[in-house]
Amino acid sequence: MSAPAAGEKMESHSQMVERLRAAFRSGVTVPEEFRRTQLTSLMSLIKDNEDQISKVLHQDLAKPKFEAILSEIEIVLNELHYAISNLARWMQPEYVSKSLATKLDDCFIRREPLGVVLIIGPWNYPLQLLILPLVSAIAAGNCVVIKPSEVSSATESLVAELIPKYLSQDCYTVARGGAEETKALLENRFDHIFYTGSQAVARSIVQAASIHLTPVTLELGGKCPCLIYGKINIAAAARRLVWAKYFNVGQSCVAPDYVLCTKAARDALVPALREVLEEFYGKEPKESPDLSRIVSDRHWTRLMELLKKTSGKVVVGGEADQEDKYIAPTVVVDLQGDDALMAHEIFGPILPILTVESLEEGIDFINGKEKPLALYVFSDESSVVKTVMENTSSGGFCSNDAIIHMTLPGLPFGGVGMSGWGSYHGRWGFEEFSHRRGCMLRGWALERLNGLRYPPYSSEKLKW
Ligand code: NAD
Repeated sequence: MSAPAAGEKMESHSQMVERLRAAFRSGVTVPEEFRRTQLTSLMSLIKDNEDQISKVLHQDLAKPKFEAILSEIEIVLNELHYAISNLARWMQPEYVSKSLATKLDDCFIRREPLGVVLIIGPWNYPLQLLILPLVSAIAAGNCVVIKPSEVSSATESLVAELIPKYLSQDCYTVARGGAEETKALLENRFDHIFYTGSQAVARSIVQAASIHLTPVTLELGGKCPCLIYGKINIAAAARRLVWAKYFNVGQSCVAPDYVLCTKAARDALVPALREVLEEFYGKEPKESPDLSRIVSDRHWTRLMELLKKTSGKVVVGGEADQEDKYIAPTVVVDLQGDDALMAHEIFGPILPILTVESLEEGIDFINGKEKPLALYVFSDESSVVKTVMENTSSGGFCSNDAIIHMTLPGLPFGGVGMSGWGSYHGRWGFEEFSHRRGCMLRGWALERLNGLRYPPYSSEKLKW
């Protein structure tokens, strides 16, 4: 919860939710003009505070300014532009085709706001993953409780300071705190919960939501494979793979988690990765201003445990410094059986490369695991890309690149199975935070025709 000003009483979670519910019931969030004004104000929040945003992201994750602009600021501004320019169209009723019996009626779908919704964000893209769903929730006309991650505490404080300055305080509010505070917050009834984070915590979110039968969107993680097969531009593949894997030092839900390729491809890939890593981050990556740091000591220890336990051979990187929460971009090969690196999502700068004999073996390997949030295939051969796309399932899919598919607001972003429920970005986010109300507006015409359905149900009516 945000700290109260002097002389002001701390507002309880239930008072907060009730205050927002009263605002929602007043209908203030419904008009297009209100939604547009709030979205425009949110755009000003980002634009006016760009430097401050980059600064807190650096405090939390040592995020390079370029990465902050690309993955936290521009992506949000892009989503805002998209929502503002499409809002009127999204809000239009959608007319549906009619039957003979409903020919004279107005039959359409109204997108209606859900009410008071809760957005719970993670720490890895602490601004983007809080504000993108907020854009969708505002566009759809909801009141919102925004719960940033306490782990990225500098960003959390800035969000708590700025939201009330730019957005309607009656309709949007920030709730602060960690697991205990979030559990207490979840005791309240929301009309929708939008959660981004780990699968483990998602289970307790769903449990809490089930008490009130609240619908939930889950944006989770998993192990995103990168299958490399057939003829391939190895230099370009190495650059794209290194960029996607070590952006935010691998702390991205859509980062390639591991590579699957043939032994021959691996033998070409490893030196290419080594070369690109030096090109991107220099001979001493620790000195590079372009590499973020692991978010916390706990996460650093978890990753180092994985490196200690792995049966594989570290062929690139492996250096680390606990004080600095630094782990060098690392590549591991020759993993045996149930390697620790393959048990869970890595979520850090460690890239295992596993070998397969054939494309079918690669596809079978992927299908033997939970459906990932993203699946990448690198190949010059379109038949390989098509075969992988048609014989696997994942939240999103991208060939010959990684992560980049999530920057397009026209594409739904979300998981499938264990990688998540529901999707957002652009129109998909608007839909996620809307109720599609099927409406039929009738008059009194055609009463004789209607008579066919009324009792008594004579044998003539049965024939008809
Ligand atoms: P997390 O689950 O630890 O925390 C996320 C949020 O949940 C935080 O706001 C935290 O305060 C809250 N929380 C933590 N414990 C809680 C509990 N017991 N009850 C209620 N709330 C609780 O996740 P994280 O470590 O911040 O994020 C990492 C995970 O998120 C990774 O698995 C990653 O793949 C996934 N992720 C997914 C996406 C996506 O868009 N699908 C994006 C980013 C991260």
